Amino acid sequence: MSEPESWRRFDLALPTPEHELLAASVREFVAREVEPQAAFHDREERFNLALFRRAGELGFLGVTLPERYGGAGLDATAAVLLCEILSTSDPGFCLSVLAHSILFAQNLAVNGDELQKKRILPRVACGEWVGGLCMTEPEVGTDVLALRTRAQREGDHYRLEGTKTFITNGGVDDGVLGDVFIVYAATKPGEITALLVEKGMPGFRLGQKWRDKLGMRSSFTAELVFEGVRVPLANRLGEEGEGAVQMMRNLEIERLTLAGMSLGIAQRCLEVMLRHAGERKAFGRPIRDFGQIQRYIGEGFAEYRAARALVYDVARRFDPARAGQRVEADAAKLFAAQMGKRVADAAIQVLGGYGYMGEYVVERLWRDAKLLEIGGGTLEAHQKNLTRDLSRRPDRIRG
Ligand SMILES: Cc1cc2nc3c(=O)[nH]c(=O)nc-3n(C[C@H](O)[C@H](O)[C@H](O)COP(=O)(O)OP(=O)(O)OC[C@H]3O[C@@H](n4cnc5c(N)ncnc54)[C@H](O)[C@@H]3O)c2cc1C
Repeated sequence: MSEPESWRRFDLALPTPEHELLAASVREFVAREVEPQAAFHDREERFNLALFRRAGELGFLGVTLPERYGGAGLDATAAVLLCEILSTSDPGFCLSVLAHSILFAQNLAVNGDELQKKRILPRVACGEWVGGLCMTEPEVGTDVLALRTRAQREGDHYRLEGTKTFITNGGVDDGVLGDVFIVYAATKPGEITALLVEKGMPGFRLGQKWRDKLGMRSSFTAELVFEGVRVPLANRLGEEGEGAVQMMRNLEIERLTLAGMSLGIAQRCLEVMLRHAGERKAFGRPIRDFGQIQRYIGEGFAEYRAARALVYDVARRFDPARAGQRVEADAAKLFAAQMGKRVADAAIQVLGGYGYMGEYVVERLWRDAKLLEIGGGTLEAHQKNLTRDLSRRPDRIRG
């Protein structure tokens, strides 16, 4: 297969030479190492730990982490760029990278203390440890502040009790737990505290692996069970009761990078449908001569460019250590997620029967695109947040 355009060209004016360099090295990694394994790991529903560790070796697991902890010390634009380019090929793999480096590591870098960061971040940045974030529970998703997992303080530790579900990187292989997690739990009714829970702590175990997922099948999604786990006080992030604020702050960069994933999906789908529309003939002409096909391509491109302008505009202004950018992050993900799914859908339509077949890639991207309307906040959650936040601060409409 010839190398798709998306890996050679990235025509957005990138702000710095560091971004250029990062984009070039991620594109090379994608072409040589990600693309050849993507279809297989989707089909087999397997997480590629070796590839993940390779991403760590190349410095892609800690782009936003400070250099003193093994990161690249780059900004939100770099994180979005990484997610966009990885998602042109394997959004499921990208989801694992994102859960590890943004949901877990970036969160720890902002909210952890020096000892925690020094001990954990270098291991996470190189991929020796696989990290994840535990917010969702079997009975609590969008309504996350109502979570039921309990952390009862007992002397020098917390006793953690509960179950989390849909956790990306919960496991790395059948029966094998991920290494380290930020777990949100209630320390009192209505009070949430974040704890670092590590593989090997007695009472902490992998529950069921979710199989037969619609998309993102190369990421490992699991239930995690905490049965009286003794979590030392030294593993608490910040102060007791600060978990809700930490969670909301980290959701902002999570949503922004998830929006970056939708951009990558759309970019690849546009390239595939454009090529096919030029090659495929019907009624004696290339199908790109037909107005209906032009509509899919033209509108898909315009929507993709509009989403990309929005997402990178938000990224450029984004300070991961500061809260208060929820309006922009919610808007970026709300728009980009729906755009990604629409463009992937258009690509299948343009390819006709071929679009329905795995070999032609767009059906996998279409399946992956759907998750971005659910994970990290549903479309409805973004709509709700935006209405609430804009009602409180109508001046934010003007920017
Ligand atoms: C592949 C995958 C990976 C994931 N990875 C992680 C992870 O790593 N860590 C983690 O913690 N979670 C993870 N999640 C969970 C994800 O964040 C949740 O699925 C999501 O937040 C929605 O929660 P829910 O599934 O419980 O749906 P619910 O909250 O039950 O929502 C069901 C429906 O009701 C709607 N709804 C709910 N409340 C309202 C309201 N007030 N107004 C209007 N509509 C409403 C929702 O929008 C949705 O349409 C993952 C999920 C998937 C599928």
